[in-house]
This record gives sequence, C-alpha cells and structure tokens, in this order.
Amino acid sequence: MLEAYRQHVAERAALGVPPKPLDETQTAQLVELLKSPPAHEEEFLVNLLENRVPAGVDQAAYVKAAFLAAVAKGQATSPLVTKKRAVYLLGTMLGGYNVAPLVDLLDDETLGADAAEALKKTLLVFDAFHDVADKATAGNANAQAVLKSWADAEWFTSRPDVAEEIKITVFKVTGETNTDDLSPAQDAWSRPDIPLHANAMLKNERDGINPEKPGEVGPMSQIKELIAKGNTVAYVGDVVGTGSSRKSATNSVLWFFGDDIPHIPNKKDGGVCLGAKIAPIFFNTMEDAGALPIEIDVNNMNMGDEVTLKINKETATVTAFKEGQQIAESQLKTPVLLDEVRAGGRINLIIGRGLTTKAREALGLEPSTLFRTPVQPADTGKGYTQAQKMVGRACGLPEGTGIRPGTYCEPRMTTVGSQDTTGPMTRDELKDLACLGFSADLVMQSFCHTAAYPKPVDVVTHHTLPDFIMNRGGVSLRPGDGIIHSWLNRMLLPDTVGTGGDSHTRFPIGISFPAGSGLVAFAAATGVMPLDMPESVLVKFKGKMQPGITLRDLVHAIPYVAIQAGDLTVEKKGKKNIFNGRILEIDLSEYEGDLTVEQAFELSDASAERSAAGCSITLSEKSVAEYLTSNMTMLKWMIAEGYGDARTMARRVENMQKWLDNPSLIKADSDAEYAKVYEIDLSTITEPVLCCPNDPDDAKLLSDVAGAKIDEVFIGSCMTNIGHFRAAGKLLEKVEGGSLSTRLWLAPPTRMDEHQLMEEGYYNIYGRAGARTEMPGCSLCMGNQARVAPNTTCVSTSTRNFPNRLGQGANVYLASAELASVAAVLGRLPTVAEYMGYAQNIDSMAGEIYRYMNFDRMGEYTAEAGKVDTKKISAAQLT
Ligand code: SF4
Repeated sequence: MLEAYRQHVAERAALGVPPKPLDETQTAQLVELLKSPPAHEEEFLVNLLENRVPAGVDQAAYVKAAFLAAVAKGQATSPLVTKKRAVYLLGTMLGGYNVAPLVDLLDDETLGADAAEALKKTLLVFDAFHDVADKATAGNANAQAVLKSWADAEWFTSRPDVAEEIKITVFKVTGETNTDDLSPAQDAWSRPDIPLHANAMLKNERDGINPEKPGEVGPMSQIKELIAKGNTVAYVGDVVGTGSSRKSATNSVLWFFGDDIPHIPNKKDGGVCLGAKIAPIFFNTMEDAGALPIEIDVNNMNMGDEVTLKINKETATVTAFKEGQQIAESQLKTPVLLDEVRAGGRINLIIGRGLTTKAREALGLEPSTLFRTPVQPADTGKGYTQAQKMVGRACGLPEGTGIRPGTYCEPRMTTVGSQDTTGPMTRDELKDLACLGFSADLVMQSFCHTAAYPKPVDVVTHHTLPDFIMNRGGVSLRPGDGIIHSWLNRMLLPDTVGTGGDSHTRFPIGISFPAGSGLVAFAAATGVMPLDMPESVLVKFKGKMQPGITLRDLVHAIPYVAIQAGDLTVEKKGKKNIFNGRILEIDLSEYEGDLTVEQAFELSDASAERSAAGCSITLSEKSVAEYLTSNMTMLKWMIAEGYGDARTMARRVENMQKWLDNPSLIKADSDAEYAKVYEIDLSTITEPVLCCPNDPDDAKLLSDVAGAKIDEVFIGSCMTNIGHFRAAGKLLEKVEGGSLSTRLWLAPPTRMDEHQLMEEGYYNIYGRAGARTEMPGCSLCMGNQARVAPNTTCVSTSTRNFPNRLGQGANVYLASAELASVAAVLGRLPTVAEYMGYAQNIDSMAGEIYRYMNFDRMGEYTAEAGKVDTKKISAAQLT
C-alpha cells in the first residue's frame, strides 16, 4: 500500500499538486499498518491518519472513526495511537461517524473529559444533541460541560477574530472574471479534485495574466511570486464571479489564496476577495467558504501592490491604504460577515448558532447576544411583490405577507436540484455536513453535463452518484435523460421556494435562488437556506407578440430595454447592471395570450444571464394546472420505469394533486415596491433581438448585425423545448440533402423530446439536411463536451456566450431557434426581410409546431403511469 501511495504522491507532485485524500480501501490498509507498523514508517503512517483522511460521512472517514473508536475503547491497539490521541483525533472529524463514539465516551472515567473537549468543537451533531442533553440531565458532568460550552459558543470564541488590519498583496485581474475563467467548463471533470482543478484557473491568456501553459495551466509562477511576499494574497478584479454558480471557482481561488484547514486534506478556507462588483452567487459561495468578499473601488489596486485594509468593526467600514494613502473606502455587505469569517464560513456559523441556541434553551438560558445580527430593514407598510410573498410563505409568515428586501431569512426549500459537474462536489459537501438523509422535500440529481462524452471520472460519477442521492431520499435521473431544468421544472410545486447547484435553476413556477454546491448541500441536508432577501425589478410585458417574434426575442428585449434606459452597460469597467443581485419579476397580466410553463421557463432561465438572484413570473392557473396534470403522469411513469426514490416522487404527485384540488397562485399587491419597473410594449418589438459576441448583455436588433457570416449553429440547451426542434425541422425540410452551408448541431433537452421527434420523423429531416444530432443534454452549451471549431462565428440558442465557452476563440450570437435555423441554412445572419419570409412559414404552422409534451395525453406514458398508486407508495413512507 505504501509503495503504491508513494508512487501516487510522486505522480501528483509532477503535476504540482498534493496527493488525493485516502479512500476507504487505503484507509483500511492504513489501519492494519498502524496496528503493527513497519520499522521507520511510523511518522509517515501517523501523518496519513491525522491529515490525509477526509472527514464527515465519507466512507474513508467511517473506517477512520471506527478505528479510532476501537482504540479509545480498548478494542484495538496501535503502538502509534494512544487512547487519548484517538479521542482527540475523533474530535477533528467535524461530525458524522465520529459523533456516536464520542458521546459514548462521555461516560468513560478516564477519557470522558477528552471526549467532552472533542465534542465542544464539533458542530455537526444533529440528533446526537439530545443524547448529550439527556446525559447532562442524568448528571453526567462531561455532558454538562459540553452543553455549557455549546451554550457559551466556545466553538466560536475559541477561533481568532477577524484582524482589524489586514495587509494584502494584490492579485489583480482586470475587467470581468467570470466563473468560467476560474473553473473552465472543459476542466469540469477535475472539479472535485480541488488542487488539480485549480491548475486550470486563468489558463487562458489575458491582460496582465501569464499562464504557465496557455489553455492548460494558469499563472502559477505569478501566483507563487506574490505568495512569497508573505502577506495574504487577495483576488482583486473589476467584476468578479459572474456566470455559473461554481463552488469550484471559489475552491480554485482559495486553493491558492486561502488557509489550510487542520486535519482536512486538500481543502482550504479563509482568503480575501475584492471587486468593484462581485456577482451575488460568487459572493455567497465565498461567504460559505469563510472568505472575506468586499465590494470596493479597485481602480488604484494593481498587480503586486501591497495594500492595508483597515476594518472598523463597529461601523462595518473597510478602508484601503496604499503607501500610507487612502485609496478606497467601502461598507461590508453586512457586519455578520465578520462572524462568518471567524466561524470558518457562513454555513458553520448558521449551524453553530443553531447549536448554541438549542443548548441555551436546554439550559433555560436567554438567547446568546454574542453574535452580530443582521440589520433588518424598516417596514415600509407597502404591499408585497410576488417573490416577497412566495418567500414569506416559505418562511412561515401569515398568508398575504412577505419578506422585505434586505431581510435575513431562512426559507424552507421544497425542491433542490443538482447537476453532474457540481454533483460530486455537492456529494462531498453533504458528506462534510454528515448528511445521511435529505430534509428538503425533493432533491433531484441529473447527468446532463457529462453523459454525452464522459471521461472515466464521469463514468464513475454516473455509477456511484445515483445511489448516493437515492439512499438519502433523492430522485436520480440517468445519463442520457437530458437537462436538469427540463426535468426539475416538471417536479415543482407552485409558489414554493428552492435552489440548485446550477446557476440556471430558475423555476418558472415558484422561485429558486441558485447557489454554489456548499449551500445546495446545506439546503438539501437541512431543508432551509440562508437568504438576504433581494430587491426586485419588475418587467411588465404588455400587448401582443408581433409576427415573427419569438419568446427568445422577448428574453433579449429585457437587456435591450435596460441598455436603452442607461441601466445596463456592456462595458465592464464601471459596469452598470440594474438586475445584478435583484429578483427579476415578470408580470404577464397585460400580455395578450397565455404562456405555457415551458415557454415561461425561457424567460426565467435567462435571468441567470442578467446576474439576477432569482426570477418569478405571473402565470395563469390554467397553464399551471395543465403543466401539473402532465407532470403527475410523468412522475408516475418514472416510478413505473424504476426511477428512485419512489416515495419522494409519489409524495410530490400527491402534493400536486392537492394544489389541483384547490388551485390558487400568489400575486403581487398593487402597491408593491420595486427597485425599477420596465414596461415593454410588445407592439414595439418588431424584429428579432440577438445577444452579440461575446456577452449575453450585448443585445442588438437583427437589422444591426444582419449579414454576419456564420460557420456553425447550435440548437439546444435548457432554453429550448420540443417546439423549437419542430420549427427547425420545418425549415430544414426545404434544404436540399447535405447542402447546409454551416455545421448545424441539434441536441434536444430530454430523451422524451428526442423520442417524440423521432416518432414524428424529424430526425430523418435533420439527417438528410446534414445536421449533427447529439445526445439529449447540455451539449455545446456547457462547453465541456463536443465544441465548435476554434475561432468560428456561431449562432446558438444556448444561454451564454462568454468567451471560449462554446469553442476556443469562438464568436457567438445568441438567438432564437427560429433565427438560428435560418442562419444555418443561409450561412449568415439574414436580413429582417429574409427572416420574416421564413418566419411566416413557421407562423402558419404554429399549431402543429408548438405543441408541448403533455404526458397525460400521450398513451405510452399514461399506460405505464396507470400502474402506479402514489397514495399507497407515499403512505408506505409514513408506516
Ligand atoms: S443547457 Fe447550458 S445553461 Fe442549461 S443547464 Fe446545461 S449547461 Fe447549464
């Protein structure tokens, strides 16, 4: 074992990274070696045991905890681990498998006090709290000491407070850093391997950044040089963390600039990040990781500068000095940030505060005054928006009332989604949280990002993650099923709140606040999520959509209108974005027509591109009822097909039925307050709107960009539904076999769409036209699978067109599937007149093209669904 491990260490060292943490088998072998150690290996073995085994409910942690417990109880011996040391080491394992033995050991005459010391710093004790409280009540002095320590929050006070002065060395990345720069999609496979993945951070050349191997390895020498100065190195940028909700982006930054966590291999916390703007999800992920993110003017901070940050803890003001001169001043987002950093992260703080509160209640003490409390906003007495009421309901407020912007709250999470490139990290975070069962009502895992072209590491995930999720009561999709949102949306309950480890988790009914994998794991495990309620921006669509105009054009009309109003700029320096961190609320009450929920998702999905915190939409009860009725059939069909967890899906079906029995939807009050209201009169949107290379905010009219030569076209992503593929088919039908002047990629969102399109003969049309069809899933949108050729110009229906996302050096226009199809045929962007000519054809067949997947009206699904009795299955859970 040691020989193999040393070889692994050498291989990893060649890559510039530490070895991987020990797995279950290696830990079991280590345990045997510790029992009778070979000569001269003693120190090495002890180091492996103490520092190289993961904590929480990882299987390796199970083996380690069992061994340490056996040593402490005298059931196993090692000349290298005393009983006392074994108890100490159990106390470094955060929670999970170490907790029960420590609670047992509280009764031990010799080791009871050591076990108490270990438990005092252990936060993830969950139900074991009651075992300690019971022992304390029965007179166990050690248990009493633990309870008192928890009540006094020694887990918190024993940690160093944030310094009043922090000297930083600036690592400056000018312009916008999106999470793809920090955690590139093509390297998604290595995300759970934090040190290895960090090698890809900033691997593409850009102003002031010198990658070690451009396109492969980031600016290691630059980073090392700055670290050598001995100060905390701070990541500093004009705009930091836009794009996907990648915990891996935070992990990479902290791997270089954060602090080691004692006894926890290959993870770091702490660190400082400064940005004139820090994207909300990235900000939250930094908070969760124990970093100190500060929005502050960074104009006078350059690469390598030494800057002193002075923090006034009373006023939560931060002042930056360079060479003795004040260069910037700012306010912390909340003074609670200081407690979060001290606790080692927001999640630790929430769990720890909860433990302290429980302990104080058990001891009959007043609530603790030790922690900083968020400043809650004054009540304006005005009405509430739709989103504020939804969150209010999830927080248990009286019906009709809501949560005011700026209020800290913890809404109940009814639905949580996880996809496969963040899923393994969420799994690791769940293990760290000692989670053996989900408290959120429905947690769903997808495999849409990696199924089409998996690496061996992805295949391992495909084989292992479904059971991990289902064993905890979650629902697991299968590789090849398709895109997370196209499935998760079909499991939603109206007016409920959720989250997901994918930044496009943007529920079309209810509301979701997408998050990084740490927070998603927390939400899944505990069933709640911390939230600073954002303000809302209202976009009201009025009137009737004009001929040839699609929903995608309305999606792009939102940034277009905001640019016209001067509330959104494309320029990164001093960027304005009215939507940033706010909730985008879409009011369709004066929209002529009735949007289906599938259509509504195009609007909510794209709120991610606006960097909005969430999105809510007013839909009719009829649309929602139609969707739920269809989805009940789909869920029953899934149960019949052997998907798990059956009880969770059955429970969801029963809850959908409850809503259908008494349908009602939350609406905003007429005097609700918004940061800004936009009214978009649909009679003014008379030609398609595209988002131009390479910025989803750069919305322009077709007439401004017509004629641009196009090399490749992608129709797919969660922005599409079956109607888009029929529309493409109708246009391609007229193309002579193989005569397309572009490379056209088609990837339907789900396997049900693919199947249906095949049944209807569309795949034959695609094939004849020379299009390339891909497995249902994210496909080109994710950029980690097949990619467009380097330096091509493309039209894509996907969500984002950040540089290098679809292909290296690719220039990407975002547009509707209809416009993309025309461009695929012509090899260039059409003129408005040309486009309208094609669109007329489509409009005339709208009834046939834009039919959605109503499973309750499709025999092959109803036949299977009819065999499933969800009442029986969900009742089985109760017995
Ligand atoms: S299709 Fe694109 S935006 Fe949608 S979930 Fe997949 S990668 Fe994310």
